[in-house]
Amino acid sequence: MDGSAESLRGYLEYLRDLGIYDVYRTSDPSDDPALAAWWKSVATPVTASAPATPQRPANSGSPSPQRPAAPVQRPAPTPTPQRPPMPSSNRAPDIVITPPTAAAAPHAYDFDQAPAPTGQLAPPAMPLVSFNNLAPLPTERVAPANKLAALQSVRDTIGDCTRCPLAYAGRHNIVFADGDPNAELMFVGEGPGADEDASGTPFVGKAGQLLNNMINAMGLKREHVYIANVVKCRPPQNRTPEPKEANTCSPFLLQQVDIVQPKVIVALGATAATYLLGVKQSLANLRGQWHDVRGAKCAVTYHPAFLLRDPRQKGEAWKDLQRVMVELGLKPPARS
Ligand code: SF4
Repeated sequence: MDGSAESLRGYLEYLRDLGIYDVYRTSDPSDDPALAAWWKSVATPVTASAPATPQRPANSGSPSPQRPAAPVQRPAPTPTPQRPPMPSSNRAPDIVITPPTAAAAPHAYDFDQAPAPTGQLAPPAMPLVSFNNLAPLPTERVAPANKLAALQSVRDTIGDCTRCPLAYAGRHNIVFADGDPNAELMFVGEGPGADEDASGTPFVGKAGQLLNNMINAMGLKREHVYIANVVKCRPPQNRTPEPKEANTCSPFLLQQVDIVQPKVIVALGATAATYLLGVKQSLANLRGQWHDVRGAKCAVTYHPAFLLRDPRQKGEAWKDLQRVMVELGLKPPARS
């Protein structure tokens, strides 16, 4: 292959890399001015007098001695051995490509007629275990004077926790709890949101403000109750915690419940109820009755974030809280 052919091949590969294939259809290079100019440059026969390589400008110093051109001896090309023609009986049969029929076309697949899958395609769902079955009930109550230290010990155990994927999902703070270690009433939510993640305190955003109002309506102050979540790190985009995350974090909440030992626990929303009770049921099924969680009476009501989205349900939530108030002997503050 001489230099012109090599240059032509390189140019065509260059065009192909650019996604230009039409050059092959150009019967005359003059159709493309750029190609024509290039073609003219490479198609010009190299005359014997034309220099084969670019000349360096003359050096202003003493001239370099000219080396005489040594004749290049090339070996004679070896002839390519010719294969004898294959007998027709030994030739592979011609490949015949048959266009797909309508029945075999993918769009003709009838999903209604698909056979039922056999075998286990998805891993089994993580089993739900109620807090009552997670661990035996404590045999001794923590003395009121020791509850703060006991809770701090749980917090120390959590440390800079990386036990579940939420540790790597962009959390800023582990949100442990807030409130009175000797509270008779405990609220359990789902997990921290953006405000809680930033501050390290549960229920401080808009939903937290509504929860404060709910607590005040019961005749209590936030400092009188204990507030915690099922998971202590913020799930990304405030999504519902995955079972793996909730199950990994639940033992910490269980210890908090066992130390505080409230009389009443209010599960805020379906996720809190699901993991506290170990059942997956609708909120409508779970509300309006008492459940048992670690010796405490547990009521289920709407999460404040849900009430912000659907304020019409505030009346229903108030009914739930009134049942709690009766249980704790609370009276709503007198209206001024
Ligand atoms: S959510 Fe709980 S278990 Fe998961 S990393 Fe945070 S503290 Fe640890």
